[in-house]
Order: sequence, then C-alpha cells, then structure tokens
Amino acid sequence: MNERDSEAVTGLLLGRGYEAAASAEEADVLLYNTCSVRDHAEQKVFGRMGHFKTLKEKNPALVVGIVGCMAQEHGENFFKKNPEIDLVCGPGNLSQIPDLVDEIWRERSPRLAIDKLNDEYGLEGIHYRSGKIKALVTIMTGCDHRCTYCIVPYTRGGECSRGSGSILREMKDLESRGFKDVMLLGQNVNSYGKGLEEKIDFAGLLGKIQEAAPGIGRLRFITSHPKDAHTRLFRAMRDLPMVCEQLHLPVQSGSTRTLRRMKREHTREWYLEQIAEYRSLVPGGSLSTDFIVGFPGETREDFEETLSLAEEAQFDSAYVFQYSPRPGTPALKLADDVSPAEKAGRHQRLLSLQRAISLKKNQALIGDTVEVLFESKTKRGEERFVGRTRSYKRVVAAGPGDLVGRLRKARIAGAADETLLGEILP
Ligand code: SAH
Ligand code: SF4
Repeated sequence: MNERDSEAVTGLLLGRGYEAAASAEEADVLLYNTCSVRDHAEQKVFGRMGHFKTLKEKNPALVVGIVGCMAQEHGENFFKKNPEIDLVCGPGNLSQIPDLVDEIWRERSPRLAIDKLNDEYGLEGIHYRSGKIKALVTIMTGCDHRCTYCIVPYTRGGECSRGSGSILREMKDLESRGFKDVMLLGQNVNSYGKGLEEKIDFAGLLGKIQEAAPGIGRLRFITSHPKDAHTRLFRAMRDLPMVCEQLHLPVQSGSTRTLRRMKREHTREWYLEQIAEYRSLVPGGSLSTDFIVGFPGETREDFEETLSLAEEAQFDSAYVFQYSPRPGTPALKLADDVSPAEKAGRHQRLLSLQRAISLKKNQALIGDTVEVLFESKTKRGEERFVGRTRSYKRVVAAGPGDLVGRLRKARIAGAADETLLGEILP
C-alpha cells in the first residue's frame, strides 16, 4: 500500500513539473513515506533524522517531509523533536502534497496535514507507474476490524471502497499500456463494496475486471481477512482465468485462546476449514500467511499450537513478526509479558520450521512445467532472469535472449526455500 502511495505522490509531483533527483543529496524535496505497524519500522525512521538534519545543513532550502502512517500517529510532535522537518502529512492527505510543498517553498513555514483519514481517492486514477510489467492498484483503504495489536484502523481509518467504474478505467488503461500482472490492494479486500451505493462485492469486482481487462493476464490481491474470505471468492479464483492461484491469508496464531485475545474473529478450526476449502476449489493454489509470536499472555502451549498449525497448514511461505506494542491499541493494556529473548526464540523456531516446509513444497515442484512472467535480470549481472509463476513462486532462469517482460514456459529443475531454478522450454 505504501509503495503505491509513494508512486502516486511521485506521479502528482511529476505532473507539477518536478523531476526525480538522482540521490537524496541532490534533491530539493525529500519525502519519507513511513509505516507504523511495528516499532522496528518506526525506529528506522527516527534513525534517519540525523541524516535529514545533515542534508538540510548542506542545503537550507531543502524541504523535508514525513508522510504516511507515522505522520498520522505522531503529528506535530515531529516538528517539536525534529525542527528540520517542514511537512507532516498523513495517508488521507497525500493528494495535497504538491500544494503543500509549493506553499512551503513560498512561505518557508512548516505544514501539518493529518485531518483526513479517508481521502485516498484523491490519489485515484493517477497514471504514473514506476514499472512497465507489474502494477499496484488500490481498491479500498482503511479497516473496520479491530485486531487488538493493530494500529492500522487508527492511522488509516475505517473501510472505504473505491467505486468499480474508477477501478475498471484504471485496469483498462493498464491493459492498453501492456501491464501483465496487477496486484489489487486493500487492508481487507474481501469486504470490498461495503458502503458503496452500487451492489458489488469483491468476487463481483474480480468478475468485472476479468471482463473489462482480460489482456492483463494476471490478477492478484492482498490482503484477505479469514473472516471475510469464503466460498464465493474461492469459486471466483477457480473460474476467472486471470485471477492467479495465490492466496495470502494471515492467521497470526494457531491458538484459539490467543486469537480471541487478538480479536481476530476466527478460530484455529475455522481457519483450517477455510484453507481446506480453498485447496479443494483451487487445486495447486499457493497459500501464505502472517504470524505474530509473543503476543501478551502467549504461553509455551499457545506457541506450540502455532507450530502445529504451521505443520498442519503447510504454507508455501510465511512472514513471522515478534509482537510489538503499538500506541493507542487495545492490546497496550495487556502486559507485554513474553520476554524479548523468548520472543526471539519463538521467532527463530517458527521461521526454521517454515523454511523447511517451504523447501519441501518447492522441491515437490521439481519436474513440473510452469508459466513464468520474467521481471528483471538477476542482480549479479549474468544473463539470468527472475520471474514469478502464477502462484507467485520466484523462478530464476537463463535465456535464450532477453526474457524481461516475457511469459515463458519453464521446467522446474531445482529448488531452494525461496527460489526455484527453471529451464526455459522451447
Ligand atoms: N490488513 C492486513 C495487514 C495488516 S499489517 C491484515 O489484516 O492481514 C501486516 C501484518 O503485520 C499483520 O498481518 C500482522 O501479522 C503484523 N502486525 C500488525 N500489528 C503488529 C504488531 N503490533 N506487532 C507485530 N506484528 C504486527
Ligand atoms: Fe489490522 Fe486486523 Fe485490520 Fe488487518 S484486519 S489491518 S491486522 S485491524
């Protein structure tokens, strides 16, 4: 979501006549888009302040802005602690950035813009894209769930869906420009359509996109909440050719006791039933998840249940996060009672279990033929290319020829936990 926000703001500024600078040192305007989900991400931003200060000392005309969720969360405190900052702008005010930057230039006084949680559709239909093959498209913002650990509903507000007409126009535009893989974005895409005048749900939107822009070929989406992902969605994934066989369904914990205290609104059993249904309706579909370890009150037994869920669910991949207390969230009232060492230990155990599962699942693909969309050369500069399968597995393969932007059939010849080795078929 942040990536698309940054791209859209870049588009707005380019539209005003700004040009991209080669480096922060050469820039006249420096905007830092931020995330509040975990303390770790915030500390990285605070760690950059010294650098901003040095840049500003070298170029006093420089405009420095903190934008996104941390701007929303900390507001004017940024100005108090960091006088080098000129602009603090939350996610709902991003479309005002060109005006705000102009004002700061003119008046040389700071600006605070955090009054709108839900005006992201000021960013609607912005033409600019940083790539040529893959594109991100925001279909809704905010979240109506209240998971007790999560700051998102407070920095990004309640759910707000974008009208399907505007989304379809953007999809057609991307199709005509040759984009081949589009990721739809929302905190909880499965509740798309709530609150709109038109009668539409997420599966319905996928059907409309299939009709309007089939030439894109690949359509994906993140994120799905287990409570709102159900049969209609899995059927749409099965029946619509452009919808990729990939589902990211964050579970957070394998212990129903912990899930209750997280207010996740699903149990272990419900989650396992959902993924069984997904796998029966979308055979060969990949499944990934998010886990939080060390949530307040998580006992060793609770954590063992998370390990056993990981074993049972056999995810293709998973993100594992250590619980991080967030300001203003309900979980803050619970004692953060799992010690840092214990959190780190649980993190390691779950990660290594998941790595072994990911490796085993990838090894099972050896010998299969898959369709790969190649995106770039490998960093090492040899004539090798990196692409993704429809199920979002990363594949590395050698030519013949330049494969960037091409769809090719490949035979899987080798596997590691995060990458497959492909041989291009004639
Ligand atoms: N809307 C999405 C993503 C939310 S944030 C969803 O509901 O799935 C992405 C991930 O960050 C979450 O799935 C969760 O695993 C993690 N996360 C959120 N708050 C956290 C916190 N306070 N501490 C650690 N991890 C957190
Ligand atoms: Fe946060 Fe829960 Fe909403 Fe996801 S569903 S954004 S974890 S409150």
